Amino acid sequence: MMQIPLVDLKAQYLAHKDELDHAIRRVVEETAFIRGKYVADFEKAYAQAYGVKHCVSCGNGTDALYIVLKTLQLQPGDEIITTSNSWIASSESITQAGGRVVFCDVEPDYYNLDPLDVARKITPRTKAILAVHLMGQPAQLDALQDLCRKHNLFLLEDCAQAHFAEFKGKRVGTWGTAGTFSFYPGKNLGAYGDAGAIITNDDDLAAQVRMYANHGADRQNKHDHAIEGVNSRLDGLQASILLAKLPHIQEWTRLRNEKAKRYDKLLGDIPQIAAPKIRPEATHVYHIYNILAEDRDALQTHLTEKGIGTTRHYPTPLPFLKAYQYLNHKASDFPVVSRLQKQILSLPIYPELSEEQSVYVADTIRSFYSGKP
Ligand SMILES: *Cc1c(COP(=O)(O)O)cnc(C)c1O
Repeated sequence: MMQIPLVDLKAQYLAHKDELDHAIRRVVEETAFIRGKYVADFEKAYAQAYGVKHCVSCGNGTDALYIVLKTLQLQPGDEIITTSNSWIASSESITQAGGRVVFCDVEPDYYNLDPLDVARKITPRTKAILAVHLMGQPAQLDALQDLCRKHNLFLLEDCAQAHFAEFKGKRVGTWGTAGTFSFYPGKNLGAYGDAGAIITNDDDLAAQVRMYANHGADRQNKHDHAIEGVNSRLDGLQASILLAKLPHIQEWTRLRNEKAKRYDKLLGDIPQIAAPKIRPEATHVYHIYNILAEDRDALQTHLTEKGIGTTRHYPTPLPFLKAYQYLNHKASDFPVVSRLQKQILSLPIYPELSEEQSVYVADTIRSFYSGKP
């Protein structure tokens, strides 16, 4: 039986083994473990590749969110609006930075923050909108940006799943005040451990996040601390690996799109499932290939039995996690995400996914619905 993992990190390593081994070895040989050349080089290269003035690296994508939110100097009762469908990092960072999380429902077609619900939830205490570009698809950035301008709010973008995706020809992470990234190994651009970064065109914000991520230390004098901060740094090994991988990201994104199109075609004639839709004004980078499926739980069990890795993004919408019980939400507060949650299923996708593997996934889904496994 074929075994198809949800993501295959080894396939990418083997395809670029020499470059990656070299990237690891040079750090060890030069003992450039903390800060130093590769961290500085990666920040420069990522800012340049992205077309922004600043990239400030940090320990992981959750820290990136937390550090940016911390610079907003939130006061008790200040509210940050975000999506009900994301990884908990998007909302816990708000609470950790001293804010109150306000959840919104998602758009039915694109699973991202619904600007109409956001508009309803803006109050005099709202300080920012945190958009998450889930699964590799941009949120509706023009509408969110308009709301921010109208109400004088910060727009922050969690780009952990959407490296280099574009909305109206402009990259995610560059629409708002700052964009945050995770380079967790399974992300579209992944390190070999934890890693993250913040991008911005704002000189002042860049200086503040850099300082906060480094114990509040003055750049010129490392023993002078104007404020207390945290220790959140990208290590040299991860920076060197990311530097080696960065030149390939556009090609990997192209391949992800190719694999997604192939699924679209292979699955197109199965009436019980719906393929993901692409927003007409955006590009999708397919961090996740998410279908809506009838009888989802039984289908997922069937795929597992046939050796196919699947998951759900996410099994429980954020407002319904135990951690947010205190908000007393009910399903009718978020009708769209509550409905989608029963149908969503993420299929294996990665740049190296072969034709044979894609066909096997599609055939296995088809045979499930036709009742002849
Ligand atoms: C992965 C992820 C994060 C957190 O990144 P880490 O590097 O794991 O801390 C934040 N937001 C979203 C949407 C993610 O997918």
